[in-house]
Amino acid sequence: MTTPKMQKTPTTIAIINQKGGVGKSTTAVNLAASLGEKRKKVLLVDLDPQGNATSGIGGSKVTEKGCIYDALINDVPIADLIQDVAPANVELVPATLNLAGAEVELVSVISRESKLKRCLAPIKDNYDYVLIDCPPSLGLLTINALTAANSIIIPIQCEYYALEGVSKLIETMKIVKNNINPELDVFGILMTMYDGRTSLCKQVVEEVQGYFGEKVFKTFIPRTVKLAEAPSYGQPITLYNSRSKGAEAYRELAKEVIKRG
Ligand code: ATP
Ligand code: MG
Repeated sequence: MTTPKMQKTPTTIAIINQKGGVGKSTTAVNLAASLGEKRKKVLLVDLDPQGNATSGIGGSKVTEKGCIYDALINDVPIADLIQDVAPANVELVPATLNLAGAEVELVSVISRESKLKRCLAPIKDNYDYVLIDCPPSLGLLTINALTAANSIIIPIQCEYYALEGVSKLIETMKIVKNNINPELDVFGILMTMYDGRTSLCKQVVEEVQGYFGEKVFKTFIPRTVKLAEAPSYGQPITLYNSRSKGAEAYRELAKEVIKRG
């Protein structure tokens, strides 16, 4: 007798920090590719009009099919927007500059906070992980990500003022949790652009660990030129330079993510 396969709820993770340039898109792209390498099925959703996750994973911003904007505003089924991309087991819902209009246009949509959640509902069970790359703001797009997700990863750059704005972010998360999405929680805090040679980096890590304790991933993402170069080739680090320190770090992160759920 064969036991019926249990349908596991996918882990939907919003990669979020309203501070710009902390490594959200780099993490979205490289964590997606690293989970895919480990045979996890991943949907990467680009929710930032800059479209950095779209280009970073090798997706196309010039597409007749449209982008996440068309799902949010024009009710195009999200399944029709999906692009297959080079990294194994990864699919992409792209963002284009059109998405910049969504922040305003969503205001008149009914239940505007949960539009993304409704868009994802018909397809999300096809994946083990849905990763949402958020824009650097706490606007309606980010609120949609917080409503659609069951957890968040906060990348924190190892630099002065690292924790600036984080309490506002946690407060926003709690408002969404208490009002719309009770299952929402912090999945992990990720230290990015870590340089072990500087005492500042070490101080920042200690400070963040003091604030978040065990939630801080054991893996730190090192600052490396290869990680910064890879997006210009439209490749995750695991394809661009598979043996690099950056690739190894994102693989370690993927292991930790799988362990946590
Ligand atoms: P935004 O808020 O604009 O969306 P972001 O938080 O998504 O930014 P990224 O785009 O991932 O941040 O990274 C910002 C810049 O830093 C990019 O040029 C990226 O290539 C570079 N970068 C990210 N992580 C690293 C790293 N570990 N080492 C070196 N450069 C990095
Ligand atoms: Mg980004």
